[in-house]
Amino acid sequence: MNIILMGLPGAGKGTQASEIVKKYPIPHISTGDMFRKAIKEETDLGKEAKSYMDRGELVPDEVTIGIVRERLAEEDARKGFLLDGFPRTVEQADALNEILSELERKVDAVINIEVAEEELMNRLTGRRICEECGTAYHLVFNPPKVDGVCDLDGGKLYQREDDNPETVANRLSVNVKQTKPLLDFYENQGVLKNIDGSRQIDNVTEDVIQILESL
Ligand SMILES: [Zn+2]
Repeated sequence: MNIILMGLPGAGKGTQASEIVKKYPIPHISTGDMFRKAIKEETDLGKEAKSYMDRGELVPDEVTIGIVRERLAEEDARKGFLLDGFPRTVEQADALNEILSELERKVDAVINIEVAEEELMNRLTGRRICEECGTAYHLVFNPPKVDGVCDLDGGKLYQREDDNPETVANRLSVNVKQTKPLLDFYENQGVLKNIDGSRQIDNVTEDVIQILESL
């Protein structure tokens, strides 16, 4: 079961990933975790990645791909994996196909959780943080009892710079542009599965499981 999980920020990828790994014995492999692990264990590739990150530069593809190769060869990933955050480009997707074919495996499904950008804007701009204790609220999903005030300590709630509509809209449009070629690539490979992520979390999970059961 070799799965890739895709979706724009706010689409609920993290939630679905944790449901999947609860039900199936495969590791959730996110790019962030993979880098942190390689750096912590001071592997050659980890050290190389760190040297770029310390300089504030992008980690080159060959290093990232090397780290993915090492991770997918580990024991716990033999029965499958859930990749999250990789690949990001068609070049990386090609490299992943090569890595898998060396292992006599292939990508079985690319699950893409689709949510309209308007809905994502609502989800992503609704967050409010308490200035006193840092507790996060959401205007729609987890509102405070009194508007603009923390339930716990009466602190004032504010919106983070990252969550303001202009920043969020920009982040989304960059993401849409980046993922389009990748979705086309997997569509052409016949493994792309689009799921309507605008519904209740449980319904989305049901669809995800149905796809995984059909593999
Ligand atoms: Zn508070």
